[in-house]
Amino acid sequence: MSGPLSVRSRARLKGVHPALVAVVEAAVARSPVDFMITEGLRSPERQAALVQAGASRTLRSRHLSGHAVDVAALVDGQVRWDWPLYGRIASAFKAAAVELKTPIVWGGDWKSLRDGPHFELDRRSFP
Ligand SMILES: [Zn+2]
Repeated sequence: MSGPLSVRSRARLKGVHPALVAVVEAAVARSPVDFMITEGLRSPERQAALVQAGASRTLRSRHLSGHAVDVAALVDGQVRWDWPLYGRIASAFKAAAVELKTPIVWGGDWKSLRDGPHFELDRRSFP
């Protein structure tokens, strides 16, 4: 059972591109695994801190422009990081993206440094 988004998740979508917010809303409504938003828009200072900590490798993150969100899976209200949960959430995101004709990219599909919690608008449609 999933959705609707919590007040806290909604607050974290502030500054995120409306097309991506729409995908998030549609995804949470259909996902078999509930999730919260942990991060959307990110400041350059925070991005630099994440790179320095080794949590990110780029200073050109899509979070800086509000084109990306990170999620955390919720099972019975508790955050879980088990990999299979993120594949199921990603399926919901991908189905929502097709439905809304809004191309997205899942970090879990990246060849290196797979990022299961990360979803972003496709650069080819949203530069
Ligand atoms: Zn991210």
